[in-house]
This record gives sequence, structure tokens and C-alpha cells, in this order.
Amino acid sequence: MKVEFIDFSEQYHTIKAEIDVGLKKVFEKGNFILGQEAKDFENEFAKYCETKYAVGVNSGTDALYLAVSALDIDVGDEVILPTFTFIATALCISYTGAKPVFVDVEEDTYNLDPKKLKAAITKRTKAIIPVHIYGQSANMKEILSIARKHNLKVIEDAAQAHGATYKGKRVGSLGDVACFSFYPTKSLGAFGDAGMIVTNDDKTYKKCLMLRDYGREGRYEHKIKGYNSRLDTVQAVVLSAKLKRLDEWNRMRNKNVSHYCELLAGEKDIKLPKIKKDRTHVFQTFAVRVRNRDKICEAMNQQGISVLIHYPIPLHLQEAYKDLGYKKGDFPIAELTANEIISLPMYPHMKKAQIEYVCHTLKRLVKTYRT
Ligand SMILES: *Cc1c(COP(=O)(O)O)cnc(C)c1O
Repeated sequence: MKVEFIDFSEQYHTIKAEIDVGLKKVFEKGNFILGQEAKDFENEFAKYCETKYAVGVNSGTDALYLAVSALDIDVGDEVILPTFTFIATALCISYTGAKPVFVDVEEDTYNLDPKKLKAAITKRTKAIIPVHIYGQSANMKEILSIARKHNLKVIEDAAQAHGATYKGKRVGSLGDVACFSFYPTKSLGAFGDAGMIVTNDDKTYKKCLMLRDYGREGRYEHKIKGYNSRLDTVQAVVLSAKLKRLDEWNRMRNKNVSHYCELLAGEKDIKLPKIKKDRTHVFQTFAVRVRNRDKICEAMNQQGISVLIHYPIPLHLQEAYKDLGYKKGDFPIAELTANEIISLPMYPHMKKAQIEYVCHTLKRLVKTYRT
């Protein structure tokens, strides 16, 4: 049996008719950039995230970069983030000239560890970027309380957590500003690159609107040096159709996870994800931990099961950030996680038989490579 890491073909068929109609309209009208459909989708997405505003941009990376810029973070400033995340969380800081300051993650959720925050705060610290890794919110109560005490802004990197909740509130509505990616493999994915910034703050909203459109206010007046980072209408049509089904798809992901966990329960060499009581997890990624991860990964792929690693190298050990002077051993939990984590196939329309095959194969391989 072959099991793809992600297969959205069945999902596509549930929205094809609606997308076909919507796209045809856009092609006929020719309103390709920030057309009415894009504005509609911004409103729908803001409502979904329980925020006042949403600003559609080119990608999740741009959403982060524009959000960081909108908070006036600049050369000489420092921004704190977890080392165990996708590199875009750090790049957005570097683009402004500010310095990323890494902290370690929690052993059970792989999210930024609030207990490690205080030691990382200096006079130069301006903001914290918690990442809701894999689809589960970070410990926002603790993070926000430390941030407020030190007068720091909080930018949520919600690129993996569309629809997740924390203490009954949607992620995206928890910090000062939040960023989403609609990269095709995310749980709300476009048919190309796209991203979104959401916020309740008027000033941040207005600045993000300008930043994504050449710093423009009106047609010919440029107030600041902005960028070209706008949501295109074609992607908005796709995303609108998908957003209507997102909660249902997130439920399907959770059902798949229940099935996975039932079948893997009691295997002492397979560490399953931990969902905190005050959150809902949307499982954009279903990641478990095993020893001898690299051998198991290779064997799984050979058996026709596509698995990936998110992420094998924490950011403080990436060559791109060697100038910051971190070394191996600086963030032991992130490093251990990076060595043991493995992402198993996950998408809403996965079949029970596929999950069974993945679990059966994984259990067998864990025994084979037990040391
Ligand atoms: C995907 C992702 C991004 C970047 O989003 P793009 O749309 O690919 O630019 C940023 N942060 C995290 C945590 C991500 O998973």
C-alpha cells in the first residue's frame, strides 16, 4: 500500500464546482489583485479568527515580515522566538535588521517554553513570536503576562494552526497581531502562495495595509517605503471555498488522530502528541517521537509511506544563523526533539486502512531498530 504524506485530491472534489464558478468570474472580470473576492475573504477570515481586521498578503513569510515591520521593530532591536520552528519565523526578524533571540521549547507540546522567556529578555527586546507548532496553541496566558510586564509586543505565528483554540478563543485573536500562511500544504491552503495578517489594533491594521501596497495611502501618495505583497483574487476564491469547510476538515483530522493514537497507544517507544486541556489541536502535522528516527524514516519511505521531519535542525544550529554564535547543547529540549520527531501522513480524507498500515509498519520498524 502507498500512503502519501498529504493527498488533497478527494478534498478538491468537494469544492471543485464552487471554485470553478468563482474562478470563471474572476477570469472574466480581470480583477486579479485585491479584487472584491479578496476583500470578502479578508472579512470572512477576520470573522473566523474573531478579530476586527485581516490583511491579505503574498505568503506567510510576508505576513510575518509586515507584522514585525508594522510594530516598528528595527535595527538594534531583539525579538524572542522558539528555536524549534520553520525558519520563516526567524527570517522575518532578520529582514528588519533586528536580532532573533532563540529560546527552548516545552518537552510535551514543543511550543515556546514561557519559563525560559525571562532569561532571554534584555533592554533591547521589543517583541515575542510564539509559534503554535503543529496546530496547537502555545501557552499564551504565561507568554502574554510576561510580555505585558516587560512592555513587549506579541506576534502569533499561526501558520500551522488555522482554527485552533486556546481557552475557548481562536488563535490569531490572542496576541497583538497574528500571521497565517496559506501555503498549499497548510490545513487552509491556496493554489499557490498566500498569507494573512489579523489584528484588533487599528494602527497596526492601517500600517499593514500600506506596507503590502507600496506604502500607499490613496492612489498616488506614498507615506512609507512599502512592499508589493498583496493577496491575489484567484487565491481568495479558493480560500473562501475552503474556509467554509475548515472546521469540518479539522474535525476529520482529529478523528484520524484518535484512530492513530488508539493503534499506537501502549507502545512505550513511540511518544504521542500531548493535547493540553485548555486548547484544541488542529493537527496540521501529526508528529510522534521515536528513537533511531533516521533509520525508521528511511524504512517507512521505502515501504511506500511518505514521512517527513518537522524539523531536523533547530534554528540556532542552522548555518544561516551561525553569525549569532549559538552552539550545540544550548537548547537541549529542541535538539532532542529534532533528533526524534517524525511527521506521519495526515490529511482530512485519509482512509482508516491507510492509518492502520502506517501504524502497523511503524510499530514493526520501532521493534526492528530498538537498541
Ligand atoms: C509555513 C510556515 C511559515 C511560512 O509561510 P509561507 O506561506 O510558506 O511563507 C511561517 N511559519 C511557520 C511556523 C510555518 O509553518
